[in-house]
Amino acid sequence: MENQHQVKAKKFLGQHFLNDESIAQKIAETLTLNGYKTVLEIGPGMGVLTKYLLEKKITTHVIEIDRESVEYLQSNYLNLAPRIIEKDFLKYDLNETFKGEPFAIIGNFPYNISTQIVFKTLEMRHQIPEFSGMFQKEVAARICSKEGSKVYGILSVLTQAFYDAEYLFTVPPNVFNPPPKVDSGVLRLTRKKDYTLPCDEKLLFKVVKTAFQQRRKTLRNSLKTLNLSNNLREDVIFGKRPEQLSVEQFIELTTSIENDLKDE
Ligand code: SAH
Repeated sequence: MENQHQVKAKKFLGQHFLNDESIAQKIAETLTLNGYKTVLEIGPGMGVLTKYLLEKKITTHVIEIDRESVEYLQSNYLNLAPRIIEKDFLKYDLNETFKGEPFAIIGNFPYNISTQIVFKTLEMRHQIPEFSGMFQKEVAARICSKEGSKVYGILSVLTQAFYDAEYLFTVPPNVFNPPPKVDSGVLRLTRKKDYTLPCDEKLLFKVVKTAFQQRRKTLRNSLKTLNLSNNLREDVIFGKRPEQLSVEQFIELTTSIENDLKDE
């Protein structure tokens, strides 16, 4: 069903086209279809993953920045045509399409914007019950890692504050055209039942980012800039380094910092 020549991979758009049908299908199967009727695929390219989404009992939208890929999709997937959004995912106001309704996200998207994709997902978590995506393997592992791990960091804590994160499987370079230099990893985020936090969310982001900017230091040192009371800074938790704190402990810490700042 090829009506058009293949899209030429463009480096500046991070294009690595998957050319293994069974892996594309396996990625599509990571969606559980629980709690939504609509999915948005980021960066469909020539639609290797899209065609498996179109087989499901779900409405598929795609967002693609590349004109040539959009033209390819329009001529090869006629039913999809009205639901192709030719935009930059990072800049587009998704509610122009979804109008406040829930939708899942899926994609094999460029590595260089993958963490920004996660941050945008976190911002829109009220509408996004599930997210499956392919990342550089190390980034996928980092997002899913737990306290005590060397790769545990900002993205792990902030993602897991709202989502359960599962590393699903690894994908080798040779199934892409052109092959990337690194392994890839597919993960799934499932929004927690209760994803409203008991603490100030902006403050949590600030505490986590500030603490991990100096990950070798104790919280007592790294959080100095927050002007906390000496009383609070004597708490044993401030003798720890950020990688030792679980997500729950970061939330508790933020609550006590919030109270401390109020007391001033
Ligand atoms: N999913 C396809 C293509 C992977 S390459 C496959 O597996 O074969 C990554 C795709 O993301 C490319 O099609 C690229 O054009 C697209 N892309 C890159 N930056 C984007 C952005 N900011 N918004 C939407 N799509 C983007």
